[in-house]
Amino acid sequence: MLARNDVCMKKIPVGISSCLLGERVRYDGGHKHDAFITGTLGRIFEFRPFCPELEIGLGVPREPVRLVNDSGATRCVGTLDSQLDVTDRLLACADGQQSRQGEICGYIFKQGSPSCGVAEVRVFHDGQPECSGIGIYAARVMHNFPGLPVTEEDRLGDPALREDFIARVLEYRRWQQRLAGGL
Ligand code: SF4
Repeated sequence: MLARNDVCMKKIPVGISSCLLGERVRYDGGHKHDAFITGTLGRIFEFRPFCPELEIGLGVPREPVRLVNDSGATRCVGTLDSQLDVTDRLLACADGQQSRQGEICGYIFKQGSPSCGVAEVRVFHDGQPECSGIGIYAARVMHNFPGLPVTEEDRLGDPALREDFIARVLEYRRWQQRLAGGL
């Protein structure tokens, strides 16, 4: 359970996939607004939005991308044009955001996205999908910040998983405050 003091404190900065806030940044010009996140969790979290596909210049609307592994390495390529390989740009995007992401205490990613999904993202092997991948950008963020609490929007619908995420965010913030105070 949340301690009363935790709720009353200043809002906690948490990264989030922009489309979950209702920003029209998806490949088709749509969004994936999650009212529970913005309504309920927005009372304790101050959201810092990131959309890597937009940030690398793909624009809206754009050709959707997907994960493909036909050669032992997973790449993020266009669904129509496999020559459109944005893997390196997504990795560079995450690396370039490290100073901004050093300020956040958690990250809510968009489930299933080839850029932002944290687990069980579809990867195509010889044209056949297998739900075994991690979004290229999300994997790099987790690599850059190994202790950062992460989750996906669908997991926040489960009360136990939600409590667990919030507890980890609070603990991460305490740890950051101790570091800032010289530990
Ligand atoms: S899932 Fe990630 S890359 Fe895709 S629209 Fe949402 S924020 Fe942008």
